[in-house]
Amino acid sequence: MSNHYQILVIGGGNAGLSVASKLLRKRSDLKIGIIDPSEKHYYQPAWTLVGAGIFDINKTVRNEKEVIPKNTTWIKEAVTEFTPKENKVKCLSGDEYTYDYLVVCPGIQLDWNKIEGLKNTLGINNVSSNYSFQHAPYTWEMIENFKGGTAVFTNPTTPIKCGGAPHKIMYLACDYWRKQGILDKCDVHYISGANLIFGVKEYAETLNKVLAKYNIHVHYGANVTAIKAQNKTVEFEIKEMDENLNKKLSSENAGCYGIVENSEMEELKKVTLNFDLCHAVPPQSAPDFIKNSPLRDIENPLGYVEVDKNTLQHTRFPNVFALGDCTNAPCSKTGAAIRKQAPVVVENLLAVMDNKVATAQYDGYSACPIPTQYGKLMLAEFDYSNTPKMTFPFNQAKPNWAMWILKTKILPWLYWNKILKGTA
Ligand SMILES: Cc1cc2nc3c(=O)[nH]c(=O)nc-3n(C[C@H](O)[C@H](O)[C@H](O)COP(=O)(O)OP(=O)(O)OC[C@H]3O[C@@H](n4cnc5c(N)ncnc54)[C@H](O)[C@@H]3O)c2cc1C
Repeated sequence: MSNHYQILVIGGGNAGLSVASKLLRKRSDLKIGIIDPSEKHYYQPAWTLVGAGIFDINKTVRNEKEVIPKNTTWIKEAVTEFTPKENKVKCLSGDEYTYDYLVVCPGIQLDWNKIEGLKNTLGINNVSSNYSFQHAPYTWEMIENFKGGTAVFTNPTTPIKCGGAPHKIMYLACDYWRKQGILDKCDVHYISGANLIFGVKEYAETLNKVLAKYNIHVHYGANVTAIKAQNKTVEFEIKEMDENLNKKLSSENAGCYGIVENSEMEELKKVTLNFDLCHAVPPQSAPDFIKNSPLRDIENPLGYVEVDKNTLQHTRFPNVFALGDCTNAPCSKTGAAIRKQAPVVVENLLAVMDNKVATAQYDGYSACPIPTQYGKLMLAEFDYSNTPKMTFPFNQAKPNWAMWILKTKILPWLYWNKILKGTA
């Protein structure tokens, strides 16, 4: 079998399969190879709903072979090295593959080990994370069995996939405890690396009211360093906040995050908090094999693939494109963003193939569906300008039932039946 492909796609997740399907819809004779080592394909956005007890975890996973687009070749390997000057990638097995055009989309890396103690306590001792297929069901077990005490929800200092997920589960947990009549016995803390709840003012206003409604204690600018199961403690460092903090947002900011720039000049206060329940979200960065490759953005400490934020073409290797969670485009990392990125990559890649200039532009669109209680959701949509970009003819900053149905019923169906098939 030849190891050369006209288009080689690295990563058969949300982005990789969307792009491959769309490319084939435009030109059915393309020879596309998709490299991905995983037997399973996950619909991760539903893990929040699994953690909230309203979605079956088994409906969030399918066999990769069932979702890989027909007329592509699935290469079940893990890429370890890129040699873009030779149009070549190397895999863990030692096998090498060459290409005319490369699409890079292996997602983001969950750096569990950056929080001391977290990995070993996940799924036991009332510590869980919806960022793990294996543990999302345990989140619900914890929430359902909670009888009151201190509940802690963490959000790291790095950009993450779905910036809203760390607080979405908190609102649902609070609403559940409210319905059980125990919310007044719950001391709820949100420990966040951001300095605000949401980067788009209109949506932040709604969420600030929700935080107040549930009486949630918010610790902004906080870096969680340890979660210790035996003592049931979470340790974090927190910067003393000042009024000018908004002016110190890092270049990593997108609508969902409001990351505070690290400054060695600032005093860090160390805090230890006892908890009875903890939902943790790990820091995240580009996968190590991207960080160590010539494709990375050397200016970016988290090592993401360097692309033009509008064309999604690599800034130094014109036959390379990247999309999804692995890029340095300063958008919020979501499947919703990919839905707008995929057509841009397809149009630009085909243009470059035809010796034309890549002119299609991605505007930074992303969406974050935030449930504020069971049955009500705020669909936050925005772009690079961090201003609302609402699709529907009503004020989406006001949570409502229709958007809840969109998230819980329509989007999962759309994902498996349309998005992966390149028709939405
Ligand atoms: C809890 C949670 C809630 C979320 N909620 C939402 C939401 O409400 N709305 C929304 O739009 N998005 C949401 N997201 C984000 C969304 O799931 C991601 O943004 C999206 O899956 C990113 O797609 P991707 O293709 O970049 O990466 P992924 O879908 O993660 O796919 C990456 C693929 O690359 C493969 N890969 C990894 N390493 C290698 C390698 N070495 N070689 C080859 N292949 C490799 C993996 O096996 C995987 O198949 C949520 C995510 C989580 C975890």
